[in-house]
Amino acid sequence: MHQIQVFIRNISGSTVVAQLPSTLSMEEFIEAMRKALGFVDRNETKSFRYVTSSKPLPMDNEREFDKQKQYITNNCNIFVLGRLLGGFTLPAMLEDIVKQELASELDKVPAHSADCAICLENDTDCLKACCVRICREDFQRWLLEKRFKVSCMVCTKAIEPKHIFVTPAYVATIQAFEEEKQILQNIDCQRCLECNALMHNETMHSLQTCVKCHRQFCFFCNREWDADKMLDRKNSCGKECVYETMISFQLLPFHYNRDIKIPNVRTCPRCFNFGNYDNKCKYHSCSVCKLTFCFLCLEDETECKRKYNSRYDHVCVKTPVLQNYSMFPRLIES
Ligand SMILES: [Zn+2]
Ligand SMILES: [Zn+2]
Ligand SMILES: [Zn+2]
Ligand SMILES: [Zn+2]
Ligand SMILES: [Zn+2]
Ligand SMILES: [Zn+2]
Repeated sequence: MHQIQVFIRNISGSTVVAQLPSTLSMEEFIEAMRKALGFVDRNETKSFRYVTSSKPLPMDNEREFDKQKQYITNNCNIFVLGRLLGGFTLPAMLEDIVKQELASELDKVPAHSADCAICLENDTDCLKACCVRICREDFQRWLLEKRFKVSCMVCTKAIEPKHIFVTPAYVATIQAFEEEKQILQNIDCQRCLECNALMHNETMHSLQTCVKCHRQFCFFCNREWDADKMLDRKNSCGKECVYETMISFQLLPFHYNRDIKIPNVRTCPRCFNFGNYDNKCKYHSCSVCKLTFCFLCLEDETECKRKYNSRYDHVCVKTPVLQNYSMFPRLIES
């Protein structure tokens, strides 16, 4: 039977390599995880969440599992998340591992004599980077500088780690480092500040106990729990909590019409970056993703103009449209 290899990112930064049949049923997957992670039975195995390609693998519905299993491919990463029943540490230092091993991994890549596109040295040992050749030292600096997101200097095509490195495990580690960032963008995912346990919030309540270090903390702002100041609610522990702050605002007079009030801050509807009202125009350009959106109706500029026949100095909606917790991405849609 055809087999694929997967990297299971597990407790205390360890990685378990497992072989899976390429045609995989849900039961086979559960059994393979049980063996690889050393659980006693399938129930224990099912008390964790498994995430690949930033997507959860359903473990209680065969049909749903079959839809998602296309993401389990050769040399992919499978993250194990505690369901706040168990704390599991992600390789806290994934980025460090990637950096430490970089020089020796580059040494494994076959080099050829060529002119380096960066330092311009002639006939030196170079590695191929799509259309150009780069010497080892410059190649290493270049990768670190671009945080492994490199593209060809000539044709601008993205150069993926698998096109550079020869060790599948190393390629998967670089990939894991990216996937981990994506997982943590979800409102229902968090990593304990104390012990690095990666967790999924099943109830969306703020008060949670890290099973690994037993710390009581607010899941959303990651602060130590303080019963005098914090409230055990869904999505937030109070006014100072992260996501509550992001959807809240105070009202200021609109520069062009003092009778109208406009929010002083807004969260970008596309990338969730936080921005201030500039005390003039109601259109705000996000400093991160460059989306220009309306501080009153939250539509992008062209849509606000079209829908409400509005202008930068005109009012589109009388009361500012509210943002709520459902705007943030989630690992598990509820
Ligand atoms: Zn060079
Ligand atoms: Zn190229
Ligand atoms: Zn902890
Ligand atoms: Zn909080
Ligand atoms: Zn943005
Ligand atoms: Zn508008």
